Amino acid sequence: MTPLDIATRIAHVQDRIAAAATRATRQADGVTLVAVTKGWSLDEIREAWTAGVTEFGESRIQEAEPKITALPRLHWHLVGHLQRNKARRAVSLFSVIHSVDSERLAADLSARMTAQRPIDVLLQVNIAGDQRKFGIPPRSTPAMVRAVNGMSGLRIIGLMTIAPQTDNPETVRPVFRRLRDLRDEIRASGIAGDEFEHLSMGMTDDFEVAIEEGATMVRIGRAIFGERM
Ligand SMILES: *Cc1c(COP(=O)(O)O)cnc(C)c1O
Repeated sequence: MTPLDIATRIAHVQDRIAAAATRATRQADGVTLVAVTKGWSLDEIREAWTAGVTEFGESRIQEAEPKITALPRLHWHLVGHLQRNKARRAVSLFSVIHSVDSERLAADLSARMTAQRPIDVLLQVNIAGDQRKFGIPPRSTPAMVRAVNGMSGLRIIGLMTIAPQTDNPETVRPVFRRLRDLRDEIRASGIAGDEFEHLSMGMTDDFEVAIEEGATMVRIGRAIFGERM
């Protein structure tokens, strides 16, 4: 992928984000593009930054650490599963953690917070009940939100899900709708603050449907950087 290709592809993704937002009578600036750079090097990441992307996602601490150390001014999001023994490194490297999937992990993150600023976290929900996926069941989510809301150093800003893989994104629309309903129910019940507003959902194959269903953060890799080797 040449630099020009990356910039062109980002512009195209942004056009698709804007068109999906318009279909849902939403503002395009209510959707944040998180460029997922797992498998890609500093060169590609710099090209995306030059093209205007400010939010970057990585799925593993090991791979992310050297990239974040080299490019600390970018905003880094952890989108992959986090093991509890890596909680300390996670809070020092990332500004947002999308994949909090247990109360014990949240408690570990809270205990590792030393910085003045709280860290933004989202709870990962396993909407489809897929055994191979991480995430808490929808029915346990309100209680988890309440628990995490009381932990110092963590600011719980919303929910995240990964939809099952499919050739036809319409088939996963109900997954996204369910996550939005869950967020709305939790907001209405008053157990979370006003900052509990985000829905991190939608990837290369399904981000337009996710935006139509209310996504505020889309996590996109292949549509920007091409197929991972
Ligand atoms: C890899 C990954 C993405 C990006 O997936 P693409 O299909 O390349 O857009 C998004 N979210 C998570 C959690 C990922 O692991």
